Amino acid sequence: MKEASSKKKVLDQQLVQKRLDQLRPVLASAVVGDFSKDLKLPEVDDEFTELFVGVQTMVEVIREQLDELHAHNRSLKTQANEKTAALEEAQALTHLGSWQWDITTNIISWSDELYRIYGMQPQERLVSFSEFLLLIHPNDRDRVSEVISTAFKRGEPFEFEHRITLPDGSERILHGMGKVVKDSSGNPARMLGTSQDITEQKQLERAKDEFLSLVSHQLRTPLTVTKLYSGMLREGVAGELNPQQEDYVHRIHEASVRMISLVGDILNISRIELGRVKVQPAPADVNVLVQTHLNELALLAKEKGIVMEFTPNMKLPKIPVDIDVFNLIIENLLVNAIRYTRPSEGKVYVTFGANKEGYLLTVKDNGIGIPASAQPHIFSRFYRASNAVKFDTEGTGLGLYLLKLVCDVIRAKIWFESETHRGSTFFVQFPLEGMGEKEGELTLE
Ligand code: ADP
Repeated sequence: MKEASSKKKVLDQQLVQKRLDQLRPVLASAVVGDFSKDLKLPEVDDEFTELFVGVQTMVEVIREQLDELHAHNRSLKTQANEKTAALEEAQALTHLGSWQWDITTNIISWSDELYRIYGMQPQERLVSFSEFLLLIHPNDRDRVSEVISTAFKRGEPFEFEHRITLPDGSERILHGMGKVVKDSSGNPARMLGTSQDITEQKQLERAKDEFLSLVSHQLRTPLTVTKLYSGMLREGVAGELNPQQEDYVHRIHEASVRMISLVGDILNISRIELGRVKVQPAPADVNVLVQTHLNELALLAKEKGIVMEFTPNMKLPKIPVDIDVFNLIIENLLVNAIRYTRPSEGKVYVTFGANKEGYLLTVKDNGIGIPASAQPHIFSRFYRASNAVKFDTEGTGLGLYLLKLVCDVIRAKIWFESETHRGSTFFVQFPLEGMGEKEGELTLE
């Protein structure tokens, strides 16, 4: 009996050994991620059968899931490739390239189109920030560098236009936009942005501005003649007019005055946009300039029952200003203050003084004010607030747009504070050094 049981045990050990030998290669492969090997089930059931069935089922399930995972990965890769190809095509079509600057590794990567925009082969080499600055037109380099470093410091989005010089020496105009991406602790981690070649668009805009400038110039002579002769007729130079004739002539004269002013605004805008305006500052007594304008507009203000006030600042030294530019600013602000103030109760108050940033001009009225919803648009071309349109149908919405352009040229700042029914105050902050000089062949009208 004892002999028989010890024989059975020997047999079991052999079975164990055999089964382990069958299991080993399958498990060894599985450990290194290879689930391709099958575990053959024993022909006759024994105490290992259950384990073998379990391992084989596990291997098959994992294999199936891995196959699914691989198929999913392949489809994701195809989708990503398709998206990248579509993005590259869109970039090429719109001449818009993109870049990304990983701040921690200091690696800047460019899209293929960005290389093409800069006249290089896609991905021909990595371009560092200092190399990128060298590709920018020398006259625009400092400005671009400043905009980007300010955006980096403040973590704000940025936008600018600049020129580049291609390896063949030609010049292109780019429009750049970008933003800073912060990490979870709020530190800048990446900067990314786009650059679009807008050279053709700029050339078209220039052609349009030149056309507009030419048409306005041609219109001015006949309009001046109309104004002159209608003025003479109105004064009775060619004989007395009956009331109806007088009314018609009055309307012709008023319309020509308005048209001349509109044409003047358009001419000024196109001259500035074409970069043709010269600024020639010379020391001037600003008290006198302001007072002269108040005198010129005194009749208009009186007709509307509006009181204008200005207290000259006697301590003010002579300041370098371009008289044409200064006149344009003060005249537009005064005309608006008079135009948008209710008759008989109106008051316009002007100040000009020195502060630590330079010189500040303020024109304050107690007129209709600017509704909060209109305030962000007030310096846009042709924009007029709805209360202004109802109050006075004759504006063009060009005056403040022009002033904003002019202020950019002379590096002055223009802004306002306003409340409906209470009035508006417009501010113009001139830099300490007065207006900066600018070369150009034309003056403002
Ligand atoms: P315009 O006066 O010919 O309409 P502007 O460009 O000078 O054009 O002004 C744009 C708009 O700004 C005006 O239509 C008006 O809505 C608003 N605005 C300008 N100045 C004043 C002011 N002093 N008071 C109230 N609204 C003003």
